[in-house]
Amino acid sequence: MIIVLKPRISRKEEAAVLSEIRKLGYKPHVMRGVERTVIGAIGDERTHHNLEALTAWPQVESVTPIQKRFKLVSREAHPTNSTVTVGDGIVIGGKKLQVMAGPCSVESEKQLLTTAHAVKKAGATILRGGAFKPRTSPYEFQGLGRKGLKLLAKARRETGLPVITELLSEDHAELVAEYSDILQIGTRNAQNFQLLIAAAKTGRAVLLKRGLAMRIEEWLLAGEYVLSNENPNLLFCERGIRTFENYTRNTLDLSAVPIIKRESHCPVVIDPSQGSGRADLVGSLCKGAVAMGADALLIEVHPNPAEAWSDGAQQLTLEGFARLMEELTPFVAAAGRE
Ligand code: PEP
Ligand code: MN
Repeated sequence: MIIVLKPRISRKEEAAVLSEIRKLGYKPHVMRGVERTVIGAIGDERTHHNLEALTAWPQVESVTPIQKRFKLVSREAHPTNSTVTVGDGIVIGGKKLQVMAGPCSVESEKQLLTTAHAVKKAGATILRGGAFKPRTSPYEFQGLGRKGLKLLAKARRETGLPVITELLSEDHAELVAEYSDILQIGTRNAQNFQLLIAAAKTGRAVLLKRGLAMRIEEWLLAGEYVLSNENPNLLFCERGIRTFENYTRNTLDLSAVPIIKRESHCPVVIDPSQGSGRADLVGSLCKGAVAMGADALLIEVHPNPAEAWSDGAQQLTLEGFARLMEELTPFVAAAGRE
């Protein structure tokens, strides 16, 4: 921490600050300039008491933390990229770009199985599908719940694809974990810390969407809840943030990819579907994401988007998805991936 004192502070007032710093377990280093004094307080800011309360002291001008607040998710803690393995050896964060694809919501056996077989044929490696849906309005389709989970399990059995589905409530943690390989924590729950802890404790991989209005530091700290609860299998997923722009449903922040890569060792996933809300933009955003270094894509695909029970405007058709996978090939190779 760097503590800057106000100008013309007496030695007595300075000594009071130094004694408080020592009391809280830090070692003070005093730098006296012509006009003012700056104190460096040496110690682990995450384990020592917070010095921020000094801001309220009349002789103190500012208190600035210099250490990052996150620890286990940080690249300092783990300099090499970490990987998350799901299903039968599907490695996320390795050389191969993984593609998670499937409908926004699980609607019926036919809808899910048709989609699962088609996305697998086109090259997807993980199946997505929401059974519990976080809908803005309580009058909208809330998901098939347990029945949807059973359908996902059937699709997994038939195709061999590992499954990602959203966990909405702590009460469902064990249930959803039983039926899925990756638990998705949605944007609306990105800072629901008790839910993050419950998800971490199931031992399943956790995909943490960025909150609608979440700063990257807050997102990293939310991820810290997973790692600090003994679950190393964390994926960060950028899915667009809310801005003033309304050409798109959200503003997909692709700069999050290199930033997370710099700050953290955890794999990064891009969701261009929620990220734009527009099927016609999904392809371009996928290409951008691959170029930026994303480890995986999360794409909504539906056999008949015009009749989807949720997010119709942003879902790709089965043919559209197959075409996109073809189009992505040279971009994936150019990014040095498979
Ligand atoms: C989804 O993936 O369908 C979804 C609801 O995601 P988000 O939480 O990003 O809105
Ligand atoms: Mn959706």
